[in-house]
Amino acid sequence: MHHPGNVFVVSAPSGAGKSTLVQRLVRSVPDLVFSISFTTRKPRPGEVDGRDYFYIDDERFEAMIREGGFVEWVQVYGHRYGTGRDWLEGVLASGRDVLLDIETTGAQNLRKVIPDARMIFILPPSAASLEQRLRSRGKDSDEQIAIRMRHARHELELYPAYDYLVMNDDLEIAYRQFESIVFATRAGRERMAPAAQRILDSF
Ligand code: ADP
Ligand code: 5GP
Repeated sequence: MHHPGNVFVVSAPSGAGKSTLVQRLVRSVPDLVFSISFTTRKPRPGEVDGRDYFYIDDERFEAMIREGGFVEWVQVYGHRYGTGRDWLEGVLASGRDVLLDIETTGAQNLRKVIPDARMIFILPPSAASLEQRLRSRGKDSDEQIAIRMRHARHELELYPAYDYLVMNDDLEIAYRQFESIVFATRAGRERMAPAAQRILDSF
């Protein structure tokens, strides 16, 4: 998929602090758009259709699969999630950068379509601290927490597929690292070469 903007993919085991970091990043960094996925799960309290996700039913999701409407899609925790092709192409055509919050399987599939996507993995400091965060967040039952902890192990095993590993122990330091990846990517030579050439030509 051709694109002038940068593509960032962020994955993490549930509870590592990904939402905390991602929300702050998209609020603070100009021209960085959060990728709104399609999902068959119901909105949680406080979530807004068209801002957090596009909420659609199974039938519509299947129709989109048939039409090739997804760049990647997965089924996790009993629901389907996918990145809409038209939606992503539209954002990228506008020249802005896009950040996708997707799980590890989808992230690897996306990399096949967009090989220069920058892949970022958020690490919890330890298993114990991850469990503690899931408990203190207060959103999940004991059973849900046990499922998420088992799933976290599988997700963590995939860290070698990522370009950057941000350890979220001290939140401020983790955030600064996270933000730095975006700005450093924007300053990459290949990206900046046309601008540098224009400047040179102006002399
Ligand atoms: P995720 O989106 O990865 O599931 P959240 O952003 O919801 O995780 O964070 C899980 C919980 O951990 C939240 O209660 C959040 O406030 C807390 N948290 C996030 N980062 C840190 C950190 N660096 N130190 C301590 N607690 C944190
Ligand atoms: P949640 O239901 O908590 O919002 O999301 C559950 C998981 O699905 C998270 O790990 C999130 O990153 C992932 N996810 C959300 N949207 C997509 C998507 O479009 N594609 C893939 N592969 N994963 C997604």
